[in-house]
Amino acid sequence: MQQTITIKLKPAEADNATVINRHIGSTIAVAKNRISGFHVIKRSLDARSRQPWIILTVLVFVDEPFYSPVIQQLTLLDVSASKEHVVIVGAGPAGLFAALKLIENGIKPIILERGQDVRTRRRDLARINKEGIINPESNYCFGEGGAGTYSDGKLYTRSSKRGDVARILNVLVQFGAEERIRADAHPHIGTNKLPQIITAIRERIIACGGQVLFGQKVNDLIVQDGKIKAVRTAAGLELATDQLILATGHSARDIFELLDSKNILIESKPFALGVRVEHPQELIDQIQYHCPVRDPYLPPASYNLVHQIGGKGVFSFCMCPGGIIAPAATAANEIVVNGWSPSKRNNPFANSGIVVSIEEKDYQDHHQSPALAALAFQHEVEKRAFDHGGGKLVAPAQRLVDFSQRKLSADLPDCSYLPGINSAPLDQVLPPFVYSALANAFIEFGKKMKGYFTNDALVVATESRTSSPIRIPRDNETLEHPQVKGLYPCSEGAGYAGGIVSAAMDGENVVSAILKRKNY
Ligand SMILES: Cc1cc2nc3c(=O)[nH]c(=O)nc-3n(C[C@H](O)[C@H](O)[C@H](O)COP(=O)(O)OP(=O)(O)OC[C@H]3O[C@@H](n4cnc5c(N)ncnc54)[C@H](O)[C@@H]3O)c2cc1C
Repeated sequence: MQQTITIKLKPAEADNATVINRHIGSTIAVAKNRISGFHVIKRSLDARSRQPWIILTVLVFVDEPFYSPVIQQLTLLDVSASKEHVVIVGAGPAGLFAALKLIENGIKPIILERGQDVRTRRRDLARINKEGIINPESNYCFGEGGAGTYSDGKLYTRSSKRGDVARILNVLVQFGAEERIRADAHPHIGTNKLPQIITAIRERIIACGGQVLFGQKVNDLIVQDGKIKAVRTAAGLELATDQLILATGHSARDIFELLDSKNILIESKPFALGVRVEHPQELIDQIQYHCPVRDPYLPPASYNLVHQIGGKGVFSFCMCPGGIIAPAATAANEIVVNGWSPSKRNNPFANSGIVVSIEEKDYQDHHQSPALAALAFQHEVEKRAFDHGGGKLVAPAQRLVDFSQRKLSADLPDCSYLPGINSAPLDQVLPPFVYSALANAFIEFGKKMKGYFTNDALVVATESRTSSPIRIPRDNETLEHPQVKGLYPCSEGAGYAGGIVSAAMDGENVVSAILKRKNY
């Protein structure tokens, strides 16, 4: 017999099999010798009270032999001789998972990626952090694995209805992620571990006969009679195809401009924009765990904050406990920040995006082409941040209380953002309505989390690439662009995903639509 039970343990007990066994015994009241084993199928943390609890959902084997969990593995075929191919633009999570699903179904994927492989890309990231120099083709957003590679690797998603989350996690485990991501309520891989997983996926795609071509920035699409015919790259490659998955992410502005210039319909869409806030991790631990020092068995604490003001939503986004603020710009004249953390989350700072919802009325006058208005609004803010920064990628920053009181900070505390920060009046960087929504929200957040509203915290501008400011329309059934047969707008850049897991699911969904059309 197998039985699923929930047990509540102190943090120090939650990884101890003997203690777990004891709790199982007392919960289901059977003799110890009748229990042959157990799997933890869900692990979450409840830190609402002074005593934090780890809540485990456990599958217990009673009076029957125990077996280890069977992890669903992809069955990947040899597609080297496949007569059919699909071109995928972009090797982010969407592009890579689309490629794997094509291979599962015997179709050869050809991925065109503007950036470089993870190893080469690492050198470009070092230049960004040490010298403040951006390579527009290889940075925190562009290159193998896309924005997902040097990201935080948080794997939870609110889009669980858009695909099979468990399948995506299983694939990541198959390619080297720790098995516990399948059980954790808030799974996290960490920047140090993601590159190996991405490399393993690419090596497998190639071993199966797929192609992954780096340094191939797509700069033209050939469309005839309303059908996709070919793609061209800046490096001079032209590839004929009648099926093209466009998974270029939210930062591929040249792709949006290309589509607009070719009269292929794109639309501005609401997104969110704000700042990244950094506190000492110790302070967030004290607030969230209600104690002076964090129990070493507890993870560095995180938070999730929301506030409504004047019809605007202000919310925390992509919180990185024990993390680093990352320079995520893709061009030299802009400042964009994001965050990452290593698997151990052992840096002394806690950072989180705090962003304000941006709606059509906020951006509609910002470009003569309405389709590009949201993008123009976003870029104007990033450019102003650059102008108020200290040159190169030095970001404008302010202490948190000073920010809300419109006071220039006389000095700034240490910050994890490696290119450096410069004291600047952020009310002159952010649009006035974004500034005032944030200034008010910080005061409210301080009431919800006593100690949050402090000048020991920093506000760094700008967190502007939370999601795409563009939607590339697609048919609900076929997932093709309504004007171009065979063109599949995919994932975050097209407005159908936000985050690693939902991007991966959308890559798979687009392939399912291709297969359906072909009656596979
Ligand atoms: C620093 C950072 C931290 C993040 N942390 C998290 C996190 O913890 N959890 C989470 O879920 N999400 C996180 N994200 C967001 C997440 O990475 C993205 O949501 C996800 O990667 C989107 O996947 P995608 O495949 O749609 O696009 P992308 O990952 O953006 O990939 C698009 C790819 O297309 C390529 N490309 C663009 N234009 C062209 C062209 N013209 N020709 C050829 N190739 C092109 C790009 O180089 C890129 O590799 C983070 C992002 C950043 C930057």
